[in-house]
Amino acid sequence: MSAARPAPELPEPLAPIVDAHTHLDACGATDAASTTAIVDRAASVGVGRVVTVADDLAAAQWAVRAAHWDDRVYAAVALHPTRANALDDDAKAELERLADDPRVVAVGETGLDYYWPGKLDGCADIETQIDGFRWHIDLAKRVRKPLMIHNREADHDLLTVLLDEGPPDRVIFHCFSSDTNMALSCVAEGYILSFSGTVSFKNAHELREAAKVVPDDQILVETDAPYLTPHPFRGAPNEPYCLPYTVRALAEVRGQDPLELAKITTDNARRVYRL
Ligand SMILES: [Zn+2]
Ligand SMILES: [Zn+2]
Repeated sequence: MSAARPAPELPEPLAPIVDAHTHLDACGATDAASTTAIVDRAASVGVGRVVTVADDLAAAQWAVRAAHWDDRVYAAVALHPTRANALDDDAKAELERLADDPRVVAVGETGLDYYWPGKLDGCADIETQIDGFRWHIDLAKRVRKPLMIHNREADHDLLTVLLDEGPPDRVIFHCFSSDTNMALSCVAEGYILSFSGTVSFKNAHELREAAKVVPDDQILVETDAPYLTPHPFRGAPNEPYCLPYTVRALAEVRGQDPLELAKITTDNARRVYRL
């Protein structure tokens, strides 16, 4: 995220939409009032519900609190794959406790990130990430909630570990960024693909091709705010209210009416997250 560019203007409303993956804490929310302010802004353009996602333990505790402050907010809890080296017994016990909370609708974001090891100080190595991913898959099955996956340059190993471990009945690939082959593999397994602002990026030709092959009942939309602000606001801070820009871009790629896609993805979010 960069604050160098001003915040995008409010888009034309498009309702209803669910933001399937965002980080309200990283958007600047700290307490009930600042959380509600962000969700009010989103609701003003039709984004009526959001799933706020944790990447470490403190963020997981915060996400559950936020979901209790405002009934339009739901939480997902996990340790991000790059932080899988913090998954000790205490962290596991706390994540198990949090995942059981009725406001928690998914276990995530977990998965594999093969981009950061060796580049980021303290990043979990690949072996540790795979162990952590296996633990989160099992947790999702135990609490009977969907598994929300972060995948960076790890297509093959992700599918392999999921099949080896046995996936839970609902699996979401957040910010799907892979090619058509990977999309088809995920679709065949019954996984759900969630698209973010990256689908609108000028150079994302392969991703747009992938977005065309996803059936209506396996697609979600998300901001991943404050990151990945959609075109033409790339580099400006993202927030859940920006989601209509992405829905319109995705609808154009798929040859769909934006309102129709909004309804389809909202029905899917309700079904997958049991909202
Ligand atoms: Zn992610
Ligand atoms: Zn995220």
